[in-house]
Amino acid sequence: MKLYSIASGSSGNCTLVGSDTTNLLVDAGISKKRIEEGLEQIGTDPASIGGILITHEHSDHVRGLGVMARQYHIPIYATGKTIDALRGSGSLGCIDQDLFCPIHQDESFTIGDIRVCPTAISHDAAEPVAYQFRSEGKRVGVLTDLGTYDDYIIDSFQKMDAILLEANHDVRMLQAGSYPYYLKLRILGAYGHLSNDASGELLGSLLHGGLQTVMLGHLSQENNLKELAFETVRQRVEQTAEEQGLTPPQIQVAHRDRPSRVVEL
Ligand SMILES: [Zn+2]
Ligand SMILES: [Zn+2]
Repeated sequence: MKLYSIASGSSGNCTLVGSDTTNLLVDAGISKKRIEEGLEQIGTDPASIGGILITHEHSDHVRGLGVMARQYHIPIYATGKTIDALRGSGSLGCIDQDLFCPIHQDESFTIGDIRVCPTAISHDAAEPVAYQFRSEGKRVGVLTDLGTYDDYIIDSFQKMDAILLEANHDVRMLQAGSYPYYLKLRILGAYGHLSNDASGELLGSLLHGGLQTVMLGHLSQENNLKELAFETVRQRVEQTAEEQGLTPPQIQVAHRDRPSRVVEL
């Protein structure tokens, strides 16, 4: 399998998860042009995308969705309330009804040779989910936009070979920064975003011998720094790995404005 972040951050998110024969996108929160360019960099034809899996209706996840789905006639997978929210906002433009495929949390489905399972997450959207994928004996997780996590999340994302995980903000940078108070509360709250510390702590609970690569994503432009996110999470993960006698996974930070290196499993 492969995991490839085309863009990741509060300004727009789009990730490719693929097998030898199936390519899927998680979210389409950047322009069609940027998605096409990102796919071109790894020699992937946009017409080969078998589905766009939407995590939730916030614009940084769906900005390019309408145009992509229309042009390439790609099915859109999303929970029922997310589809209602997308339709209600009118942000997608006119889309063929047949392209909407409603999904349900914890109910797996298959696209091509990839098994997909949506997991409910705690975020201030209609019915948000994260995704895990299985194919070719490997497992990949894409987990962003969650204010907090619990045992359900920890149980759901065990045994991943690679995971793209949110490390949104540094709590001190956010508290000392220029965001209005209500926005700080929203981000820090249970329906907001994972801090670097929380991300490192969650990873500690997901560590196992097979976890090869962690990609940190959805970094805030104002309230985080790549080096800070990387170091905070790395320290936590290496400490836990040492305690458990495990080799720590490779950690990289997904870029906001350009594609990252492809993770091949
Ligand atoms: Zn969101
Ligand atoms: Zn987001």
